[in-house]
Formats: sequence, C-alpha cells, structure tokens
Amino acid sequence: MPFVFMIDIFKRLPGTNCGKCGMPTCTAFALKVKIAQQKITDCPFIKKEVTEVFEKKNITTPEDNYERVSRELEVIAKQVDFKESAKAIGGGFEVKNEQEIIKLKMLNKSYEMHKDGLFEDDKYCHDSWSKIIIYDYIRKKGGKSLTRNWVTLGYFPNTASHVKAFQRNAEEKISEAFNKNITSLKERCRQLNGTEDSGRMKADYICRFNLLPRVPLYLCFWDADEEFQASCKLFLDTSAEAYIDIEYLAYLVERFVEMFVNIK
Ligand code: SF4
Repeated sequence: MPFVFMIDIFKRLPGTNCGKCGMPTCTAFALKVKIAQQKITDCPFIKKEVTEVFEKKNITTPEDNYERVSRELEVIAKQVDFKESAKAIGGGFEVKNEQEIIKLKMLNKSYEMHKDGLFEDDKYCHDSWSKIIIYDYIRKKGGKSLTRNWVTLGYFPNTASHVKAFQRNAEEKISEAFNKNITSLKERCRQLNGTEDSGRMKADYICRFNLLPRVPLYLCFWDADEEFQASCKLFLDTSAEAYIDIEYLAYLVERFVEMFVNIK
C-alpha cells in the first residue's frame, strides 16, 4: 500500500465539517479514508482531479483496508522490545503465563498489548483507530521527558490545515457546552480523571488529562463574564511529537472532546 499521511487526505477536503460524508468532521473522515473504512468519494465535494490522484495511488482498493494498516503497524509493534518500550512510553510491563505484556491507558480505557495483539478490558480490540494509535505509540518508543512547553496543535509541522477545524470542533465545542457553567466543567473534568493544574497559563481553570501515559493535554478555561462568552484552549506538551504522529494526535484530541462534551 502506498503510505499516505492523513494530512495529505485532509488537505484535499473542503474543511467545512458539514457532515454529509457521515462523519462529524473532515479530520475524522480523513482518518477513515486513510484506514480505508471510507472512500474519498464519500465526500460529495471532492473534485474529479483529486479522485483520480487517489485512484492512481490505489488507495481505496479492497485490500487497502484498515486491517492492512493496523496489521502493518502491529507487525512492527510486536517486534519491539516490550520491556524497553513500556519504560519509554510510560506503560506497565509484566510477564503473565510466559507472555510479555505492555499495559497502558488511552482516554481512560485500559489496554494490554500482547504478542498476539491488542486487548481492551481483556477482550480482543476490534476498534481500528485504537489499534493504529496504540501500535504507533508503542513502536515509536518516544522516551522523551516533558518539556513543560505548552503549545497548541498548530505548533507542530504540517498542521496548518487542521488548525481552524480543531478550534471549531474541539475548543469552541467545549466553550459552548460549558458557557457560564464552570462548575459543570470542573465536575466533568473530575469524572474523566483530570488533575487540576496551575501555573503556566492564566486561566480560570486548568486541568490536565493523559490522552496516553506520556501525552498530556491541558484544558484551559476562561469563564464567561458580562462582556465575553466562555473560551477554552487546549494545549499539548512539545514532547508529544516524539510519541505519536501528529495526525493521529489531532484525531485523539477530537475523540477526547467528543467524550468530554457528550456525557454518557
Ligand atoms: S469530508 Fe465530510 S465533513 Fe468534510 S466537507 Fe466532505 S462531506 Fe463534509
């Protein structure tokens, strides 16, 4: 399969997040195309020239499916030294029934990487994006300390086209959902195991979440006053790019926001 970055797909989309492809955002759709769960032509606004480029690259053939992408990453992830990788990514390592296992949490869910695949809460994980992100995280073995430099997504290379959609779909969603309601926001942060943080940013409330063990997200919230609506900014540590491809990170943050605003 030709390797295509999600950003290459995203750049060809209108970026209007209209939802007509069945996905809530263009970013989410781009990932679905990358892992071949949807075709680029499912976006009705795609120009013919773009479709042709993708057909030439053979991106949407049946065998070019998510299983293949995750299998490729799985093969690489299984070859890494589990003990070394667990240490580098902040995961746990144990040997159970002579099987080496990496344990980690992503968005508050517990996962175990075995030599025969990824398990979520003791069941084989079938979720494509979880597999791809975790295999990528394990194989990258980031091993970098937090820099404590907080940056927005646009700081990272090749993210310019993500930035507006990110503000609209992540930061503005939270601002709107908790406008004039900082008490509910704090409660939601507690429900999702966030840790109150302070210091680096002047905000009414700052909370840290671990998207992955070594990939924190800082939610900064400024409550509404007589003049302004509430606003929210999401920051990442600059070390994040050592741990995860930024296109996956953008998607992971979107999933976090969906979870954050949709109380289930
Ligand atoms: S990718 Fe989906 S959300 Fe984005 S413009 Fe196309 S149909 Fe709309």
